[in-house]
Amino acid sequence: MSSPPTTPAPPSATSHPATPHAIARLTHAAHFAGRAHKAQQRKGIDAEPYVNHLLEVAELVAHAEVPGDFEVVIAALLHDSVEDVGVTEADLVAEFGPRVASLVMAVTDDKSLSKDRRKWLQIEHAPHLVRDAKLIKLADKTSNLRALVRTPPVGWTRERLHHYVMWAKAVVDACGPVDPVLERLFTEAHAVAEAAYGHVDGEREDVP
Ligand code: ZN
Repeated sequence: MSSPPTTPAPPSATSHPATPHAIARLTHAAHFAGRAHKAQQRKGIDAEPYVNHLLEVAELVAHAEVPGDFEVVIAALLHDSVEDVGVTEADLVAEFGPRVASLVMAVTDDKSLSKDRRKWLQIEHAPHLVRDAKLIKLADKTSNLRALVRTPPVGWTRERLHHYVMWAKAVVDACGPVDPVLERLFTEAHAVAEAAYGHVDGEREDVP
């Protein structure tokens, strides 16, 4: 089994211990996300439980040089719940409050639109997101690029993989400067994905 890509472990001691209230809300969000996505798996050949992606995005957000507060981590845990499993904005407001709900909605695509239109709108909207939503966006694309290399989606052509890598970079570039640590982790994930899928067939420079 290959080891998952690394996000550096945080220091074991902190001068700002989390309050019991914050821990309770975070663990509630993790449990809520696990239940909401219980039937969903990643598209990769490993068919990882989808919640692994949510936990990775939340972990990345928490590793920002200037991290958002714990509500941003909660929103990261829930960031695909409206788009993928039918949780509503009203559900999120009731369970987690209006700020978490608005952060999730800011990174949620309108599924009534075509896939191409949604992808284009992500680039269009990225510069206008609040910083906390950009943290989630950056972490999401980092997690997705890591997964693309670690466990490529079943049935995706090399060209589709190549286009995903380019599109993810375009979304992150459109966000502008967000956080140096998250930008570095994205750049690392992008470099690995670019090396794997940077050339579509016909463009490849290497000769078999
Ligand atoms: Zn996601």
